[in-house]
Amino acid sequence: MSLQQVLSQLGKAKLLAVSKLQPMEKIRDLYGQGQRRFGENYVQEALDKQEALSDLPDIEWHLIGHLQKNKAKYVVGKFHLIHSVESLELAQVLSRQCDSKGVQQNILIQVNLAHEETKNGFDKNDVLAAWPELMKLPNLHIMGLMTMPPLTETGSEVRHYFAELRALRDELKRQTDTTVHPMTELSMGTSHDYQVAIEEGATIVRLGTILFGERPVRR
Ligand SMILES: *Cc1c(COP(=O)(O)O)cnc(C)c1O
Repeated sequence: MSLQQVLSQLGKAKLLAVSKLQPMEKIRDLYGQGQRRFGENYVQEALDKQEALSDLPDIEWHLIGHLQKNKAKYVVGKFHLIHSVESLELAQVLSRQCDSKGVQQNILIQVNLAHEETKNGFDKNDVLAAWPELMKLPNLHIMGLMTMPPLTETGSEVRHYFAELRALRDELKRQTDTTVHPMTELSMGTSHDYQVAIEEGATIVRLGTILFGERPVRR
């Protein structure tokens, strides 16, 4: 689908173009059409692309993939938003790395609502339990929540996960000093379920395949 066609379906939701494994030229092309937000999964690939595309002013990089604690030092201050903060320990490491680099970092808390073993993210109860600790960590600004529902579910089946994420965001927001942690964002919806996600209040949809076509396989 063309960028214009996609944008016309998003309403107020922001488009994050998921460019993982896609070549630089495709990012340049979309940028040329006006797209500014790009999402990457793999730290080294993301940093290489940032460098190669540093001539593009006001491009906005987001990290959406699994982040290992030992890579935290490479990412703080380098991304507009890190969507994949999946544990208290990772948040603590990010906060410390921000301290040593003298930067602040916007993050989302990734929640695993289906309790899938294979997926990263906080269980709902764990995020509620960790919330007081998360809020106290210096240098981090929690902008909201992110989820990645099971791929096998159809649109109507994923709807309750999206609704659940929104309800959880609302509940957490009530316990939050929103001058520090705005809690305004809901990053949810990919190429096959973004319409449902938008109906359930997504503020950021993460779209790859529908914009770029099939991804090359990872080597
Ligand atoms: C790859 C990826 C996407 C994009 O998926 P598409 O089906 O290509 O739209 C979105 N979110 C995350 C976390 C991803 O890893």
